[in-house]
Amino acid sequence: MKSLSRKEFLKGSAALAAAGLFSAGVSANEAEDAAIQWDIEADVLIIGAGGAGMCAGYEAASAGAKTVILEKSQTFGGTSIRSGGIIQASGTEAQKKLTSYADDTAEKHAQYYIQEGEGTLDEDLVYDMTAGSADHIAWLESLGLEFVEVTGSAHTPMADESLYADRIHGTSVGASGIFTAVHDAAEAAGVEFVYDTQATKLIREDGRVVGVEALQGEKVIYAKGIKGVIIATSSIDHNEALCKMLNPNQYYDLQNAHCVSYPYDTGDGIIMGAAIGAQLSNFGGVIDLTGVTMAGINRQTPMMPCFFVNKYGNRFECEDNTYALTSRELWREITKTNHACYTICGPNDIMTKEALDAMVEAGTACTADTIEDLAAQIDVDAANLKLTLERWNKDMEETGTDPLFDRATGLAPINGPYYAFVEGFMNLGAIGGMKINLNCEVQSVTGESIPGLYAAGMASAGWVGPFYPGSGTALLGSIHFGRKAGRIVAAL
Ligand SMILES: Cc1cc2nc3c(=O)[nH]c(=O)nc-3n(C[C@H](O)[C@H](O)[C@H](O)COP(=O)(O)OP(=O)(O)OC[C@H]3O[C@@H](n4cnc5c(N)ncnc54)[C@H](O)[C@@H]3O)c2cc1C
Repeated sequence: MKSLSRKEFLKGSAALAAAGLFSAGVSANEAEDAAIQWDIEADVLIIGAGGAGMCAGYEAASAGAKTVILEKSQTFGGTSIRSGGIIQASGTEAQKKLTSYADDTAEKHAQYYIQEGEGTLDEDLVYDMTAGSADHIAWLESLGLEFVEVTGSAHTPMADESLYADRIHGTSVGASGIFTAVHDAAEAAGVEFVYDTQATKLIREDGRVVGVEALQGEKVIYAKGIKGVIIATSSIDHNEALCKMLNPNQYYDLQNAHCVSYPYDTGDGIIMGAAIGAQLSNFGGVIDLTGVTMAGINRQTPMMPCFFVNKYGNRFECEDNTYALTSRELWREITKTNHACYTICGPNDIMTKEALDAMVEAGTACTADTIEDLAAQIDVDAANLKLTLERWNKDMEETGTDPLFDRATGLAPINGPYYAFVEGFMNLGAIGGMKINLNCEVQSVTGESIPGLYAAGMASAGWVGPFYPGSGTALLGSIHFGRKAGRIVAAL
């Protein structure tokens, strides 16, 4: 892992100061803000034309509010339009038709998320989000989209199995189809999109957020949101300095993983909010996939017979838990031991000998006929690795279960030749944002709503974390709090 240079440290400190974590002097901007000449005026001003921003825009404009979205990049969609386009929902017609979970409820869905939240979530926000989920699917259907499959997340040890259901809704047109439809509907409803415009600072009058300062190239412009400003700029995904301070797992990923969320998502809205005292919440989690085996991707994708081992040659987690939980435990083990963790397997139906040999050929795996020789190649304790393999094979042969970690798939013995490889992470974004209440109002560090300031999507917090609980959650939250914020601000 790279250590922080003095330049990076100073950059990080500046970011924190800008973020108002050292809050002195923040309110001094108000007086100068009062004399502003506005270049853009709207009833509802939205920052970020990703999933949450466009959903907010659609609702605000449909309610008759003059709505403008400022977007830093040249086009709409953000990470949302580049995503897998699958959305969690409960109690939908598609779920009734396509799964055996016709009796699923929003309540069960919320409880599942809350248990996965390890005690850190705002339960009201979670109940609110799942209660809205069926309507969001119906709304997307009204835009011409058809949900053709509903699948399920892999398991987690902390969530009660009776709360589980297949809830991950997918279309045949993917994220580009979904968010192009949302964009077109928003534009048809009257939303004005202003591209190449990076919001940089919130502007307040008498303590109320009334607009933003923004950059168009070198030019500074001012945009007003008469009824309010909705921040929809996602989390701190690509902001190295802030990740180092607020999200060590994301920071690790920026150095070591393949980070594929929209590069413009650098936490700008969160910094602007923090600069006027927004409460930063639920930071630390990431949306990570294990790159090679794609472990825990969903219940319809079984994992091959294999296990992960640490420096000591021991297993340390259930390998087919939902992917971001598996990844979190892998990351923790790697950082705890300052040593790579390895997947150990033999040829199997999912990864054949040919496929594994091709990895060896490419230098991404190593192989040996004995487990001791394999251990030597990966600098892992050989005696322990042998014991781990023997225990695995004994459990598989005798009971076909995994009493150590409750694996659900890939429960078969592992035979040589043996292979070892590093999983690596694919990072789909960071978790953590500004704490909102049920009205999407951004909360201050002292627990009051900041007048005029709203947030939605991954820039908002309270409804997801501390690890990503399964595919379709981020888009559900982005659509839910986006639509809700748009409606609420337009109605003021
Ligand atoms: C490859 C991939 C696949 C994924 N698949 C799924 C999936 O299938 N289901 C799921 O639920 N989640 C998925 N995710 C996660 C999910 O897509 C994101 O978490 C979610 O889309 C974030 O939505 P958002 O509206 O908060 O942010 P975004 O959609 O990223 O929108 C933020 C927008 O704000 C703009 N912006 C940033 N700063 C400024 C500024 N200062 N001024 C103006 N504009 C600004 C950005 O340019 C961007 O357009 C996936 C992620 C990736 C990377």
